[in-house]
Amino acid sequence: MHEGAIAQSVVEVLRDIKDQNGLLSITSATLKIGAISGVVVDALLFAFEAIQKEEDFIKDTKLNIIYVNVKARCSICGKTFEFDNTDDLVMICPDCQMPLAIINGKELEIVDVEGQ
Ligand SMILES: [Zn+2]
Repeated sequence: MHEGAIAQSVVEVLRDIKDQNGLLSITSATLKIGAISGVVVDALLFAFEAIQKEEDFIKDTKLNIIYVNVKARCSICGKTFEFDNTDDLVMICPDCQMPLAIINGKELEIVDVEGQ
């Protein structure tokens, strides 16, 4: 994914929220980013910082990141598994040998915004 484009779309969402609520600036924004969303958090923060220099209303915005681990459920036995390391992602239920369905980990959403 292209973090520059994602950062730009985050900024546009923040601009809409600012306009719709009659705010002058956004003080903080919280993003939920899944481990397998394809987003490189450092690259996204870097891209956001670059845009911050050009947009007054987000100049002092604190960007918080909630990192979401991959969670998957077996459709046969219903057991859920959480993976905190995507390197050893085994998407097969050890009991049923069936593929797991992903519940969490693909998130890329703005969950909280504060402004003034
Ligand atoms: Zn199972």
